[in-house]
Amino acid sequence: MKAGSFEISGVHVEPGQRVGIDLPVARLYTHTSLAMPVQVVHGKLQGPCLFVSAAIHGDELNGVEVIRRLLQQAALKRLRGTLIAIPIVNIHGFLDRSRYLPDRRDLNRNFPGSGKGSLAARIAKLFMTEVVARCGYGIDLHTGAIHRENIPQIRANMDDAETERLARAFGVPVLINSTLRDGSLRMAAAERGVTMLLYEAGEALRFDEVSIRAGLKGVLNVMRELGMLPARKRKTTGLKPPLIARSSFWVRASESGILRTLVPLGTRVAKGGLLAVIADPFGEAEIEVRARHEGIVIGRIQLPLVHQGEALYHLAQFTHTERAARSVEVFQEVINPDPTAYDDEPEPPIQ
Ligand SMILES: [Zn+2]
Repeated sequence: MKAGSFEISGVHVEPGQRVGIDLPVARLYTHTSLAMPVQVVHGKLQGPCLFVSAAIHGDELNGVEVIRRLLQQAALKRLRGTLIAIPIVNIHGFLDRSRYLPDRRDLNRNFPGSGKGSLAARIAKLFMTEVVARCGYGIDLHTGAIHRENIPQIRANMDDAETERLARAFGVPVLINSTLRDGSLRMAAAERGVTMLLYEAGEALRFDEVSIRAGLKGVLNVMRELGMLPARKRKTTGLKPPLIARSSFWVRASESGILRTLVPLGTRVAKGGLLAVIADPFGEAEIEVRARHEGIVIGRIQLPLVHQGEALYHLAQFTHTERAARSVEVFQEVINPDPTAYDDEPEPPIQ
């Protein structure tokens, strides 16, 4: 069935059109006006409305690049339904290269927001009114915090069957059943009946090619699953089915010191396995950091300077750890950022 006109912020987008819209946010105190740029791709045929957002934490950049590549896809010419792409939600934070807004508020703790509250609350309200209210589905792209890297993973409410279906379709090996956090976009969206995934990969203020590729593939896979894009001709991706983590835990520094990490992301670690060593600068006191349970490394610190109590390694636990480890291994081989390994992707990898 043919689509009708799509309205956002007073702009009408006709079927088959792609339109850039600037949603006005609070101007800078230099009197410079500021806007959240949004691109709407409205398909000729009816279908679901999906938003894909990034940089709600202003220093999380991989998702910005995922969206840039997404919008270059030739397949969007055959889009059914509507894609709303918001590469930079937290404009102020992005300019400051900061996770937060200028008043140190975390935008992702201020949803659904209000028109009379803090700057964060007002931006949240704008996003809810202009974007979320028009969509049935959403994917919010994140990275680890500053100096922390995450293996590509989906965090979503797997107790909801529709969410689980899309999380599995995304196609990363690790799925985390994550409860909704108060004030988050995900919670506000869920309360309005919008099915949402949160993708986490890589590190703040960095581009990571594996994370970007996996994110782009994931968004496209979800769009295929929703019938927004034609199904793949080649069914086999080589990937193993993703597994939902049973739980996850952090390994913290028992002492302050200089850290040498020994285990990369994706490693399967046995109970008691050695993860890292903390030493003083003279190399006199050496403290081993060990895993207290078996698990797979899904996040880790990148900065070798740690205080006592600091979170060093994030490990996920699975019912079938070997299967999960194998899934991660195959995934890392398939999403290899080697230009010769990928002939169907036009993008040269970011090294
Ligand atoms: Zn984030």
